[in-house]
Amino acid sequence: MNLAMALEMSAECFPDRVAVTSDGKNMTYGELLAAARRAAAEIQASGAKYVGLLDISSLAVPVAVFASAYAGVPYVPLNYRLTKPELEELLERIAPAYLITDTPAISPLTVPTGVQVVLREDFLELARSTGPQVEAAPGEPSDVAIQLFTSGTTGKPKAAVLRHENLMSYILGTVDFGNAEETDAVLVAVPPYHIAGISAVLSSTYACRRMVQLPNFDAKGWLELCRNERITNAFVVPTMFSRVIDYLNETGEAANLPALRAIAYGGGKMPLSVIERAMELLPDVDYTNAYGLTETSSTICLLTPDDHRSGAASDDPEVRKRLTSVGKPIGSIELVIRDDDGKPLEPNQAGDIFVRGGQVAGEYLGLGSMLDKDGWFPTRDRGYVDSYGYVYLEGRADDVIVRGGENISPGEIEDVLLEHPAVSDIAVVAIPDEQWGENVGAAIVLKDKAAASVEELQEWVKARLRSSRVPAKIIFKDQLPYNEMGKVLRRLVKQDFA
Ligand code: ATP
Repeated sequence: MNLAMALEMSAECFPDRVAVTSDGKNMTYGELLAAARRAAAEIQASGAKYVGLLDISSLAVPVAVFASAYAGVPYVPLNYRLTKPELEELLERIAPAYLITDTPAISPLTVPTGVQVVLREDFLELARSTGPQVEAAPGEPSDVAIQLFTSGTTGKPKAAVLRHENLMSYILGTVDFGNAEETDAVLVAVPPYHIAGISAVLSSTYACRRMVQLPNFDAKGWLELCRNERITNAFVVPTMFSRVIDYLNETGEAANLPALRAIAYGGGKMPLSVIERAMELLPDVDYTNAYGLTETSSTICLLTPDDHRSGAASDDPEVRKRLTSVGKPIGSIELVIRDDDGKPLEPNQAGDIFVRGGQVAGEYLGLGSMLDKDGWFPTRDRGYVDSYGYVYLEGRADDVIVRGGENISPGEIEDVLLEHPAVSDIAVVAIPDEQWGENVGAAIVLKDKAAASVEELQEWVKARLRSSRVPAKIIFKDQLPYNEMGKVLRRLVKQDFA
């Protein structure tokens, strides 16, 4: 099993179908296969040990992903938003490498010896040229397919190692081969250096869909591309979706997306108000919430379209609450919640989330595997499973507030405060406290024209949760800092309490 298999099957069945559209240019499955095989021969000839990509989404992305698979060399996409010293260090770490990039991304950097720079357009020209090709992907299923550097918020970026067997297990477990209509088009607006960007390339290729890239997201551009390219399926992260909904609310523009059938979202917590509003604005769309991690080769839990519909239509608070869950583990994934001693917990008891399955790689370069002897991987997410099997996330283990020895998950306080009619956005963080060591701090964005006092919000929490959960300090902000994947940057929020 090698990633090349996903492309080979699609190209054999649908050689003339468009595989990818970027900036108005198309590449068919047949062309993508030929380009990947041709580029693989060049990569092998270069002697590179890695194929790096330092660039925005373009036709070069799927070619590079599959060329790496045919060359038998790990693919390493780099985050072009990192600083110059961070990128230079990563380039040192992957040398010798064949680096596909673009002038604006590479020109500020000092490129270490051993990194061969190939500009995107030259790479594409070469890939389309006649010359030697690699016909069959070499290697074993356990060979490294992709290395993804984490964002490095807590130290030096770690390289998550994903093997061909992990990624193929994800694809085979979640995508029906060739189930797409010729007219299906998937809009991908997530960056290529994130697992969501990679899984979009892999799953769209295996399903034989046309992938349409949007390299630089903005709400208006997203809506226009959806209409012009008759997009049927889209993947968004919460911040993108919030901006699309805000744009429609503010402009009063009709969504007017008759072709759009399905929206999958994930990568971070989706505010309930956004998904509820989206279901009003686009009622005919199938919504799916996908929960996953880089280390698990993407999606491990899904909240299905039926769950969305029944949740939105129900008067039963238990069923309605499901809209805030990440659904149930997919068929090939086992999930357990454990306490601090590693003991499995009962339904509705919160603890650490562990997962197991073929797609769970759980390994970092130089650090080895994080899987225990039975194959369980600690996600470092906290949460619980309800009596019906729905998984609720309560935040990252690293964000837990330890107040006088008591562990408090920010998520439970955030969920309660988000139900307050004046609150539009919130981040709860640990703040230093002389008496308790750590205490609860809440940074809150109020809704437009809404008002609420600190005391009123504290009372709101006190009426619903234990007194230790009442924020000791509340500050009001115009907006919270998010990264491009829709995650609140809690370390920046913490600085506001200093
Ligand atoms: P780093 O490890 O460098 O801090 P990261 O944690 O953002 O980066 P990712 O693998 O991109 O790395 O993110 C995985 C995390 O994103 C999950 O552990 C979970 O906390 C969060 N997440 C992913 N999908 C969802 C979702 N659908 N709903 C809520 N949170 C999600």
